[in-house]
Amino acid sequence: MAKIRRKIIEIDETLCNGCGKCVTACAEGALAIIDGKARLVSEIYCDGLGACLGECPTGALKIVEREAEEFDEQAVEEYLKRMKAELSSPFTSQLACGCPSHQLRELEPESRSSIEANIPSALSHWPVQIRLIPPSAPFLREAKLLICADCVSVAYPKLHLELLPERKIMIGCPKFDPAELYVEKFAEIFEKVPLQSVEVAIMEVPCCKGLVYILNEARKLAKKEIPFKIYTIGVKGEILREEVF
Ligand code: SF4
Ligand code: SF4
Repeated sequence: MAKIRRKIIEIDETLCNGCGKCVTACAEGALAIIDGKARLVSEIYCDGLGACLGECPTGALKIVEREAEEFDEQAVEEYLKRMKAELSSPFTSQLACGCPSHQLRELEPESRSSIEANIPSALSHWPVQIRLIPPSAPFLREAKLLICADCVSVAYPKLHLELLPERKIMIGCPKFDPAELYVEKFAEIFEKVPLQSVEVAIMEVPCCKGLVYILNEARKLAKKEIPFKIYTIGVKGEILREEVF
């Protein structure tokens, strides 16, 4: 297709944090999160009007004027119809937002021979799901508590070697589980159960920060100044950050 000089979106990848807000703001479907960054799906889908600009929290977006393929409204309509059909399929209906945690990725695992054999389990209680553990569980008293997003337990290979020893773990998913119930449960734990420490392990994807939000709300409700140590785990299985919140 011939190119013309026109206005079009430009994305500064160094500023983009992959939050996906621009994706949902773009009615033309011109943006997608690919490899954790916002990208232009096709020049012909971008009308250059900049509806996404105000949504970007990091200033990664701007409208520039350059040679680009012409905006094609009909192509946009067909593309959106295709996307709608795909998203309404029973297999993809859960994937309808632009959140990077929905992004399908293939990873390169370590070879089998390089994975240490016979790693012992460091788990010292059961159950482990937040929903199934009552605040009255005896193992919570004086515990070093590790509250862990579900995906961490499979993404972080050293969980049993480094995070779990001597901790009592509670796992759950801030994206799919009932946040209000978790706020209430942790508020009760923080208020009534003596704890040695609270650590939180979440994935790097933005939706997983919901777990920190839940715990912060619970901390406020319990009126306790409990510091959390937060481990952020990358999808490749490494600890990306350790922070105290
Ligand atoms: S809104 Fe901004 S930071 Fe978020 S994905 Fe889009 S460009 Fe990146
Ligand atoms: S919120 Fe966290 S635990 Fe839930 S799906 Fe996303 S990455 Fe996994």
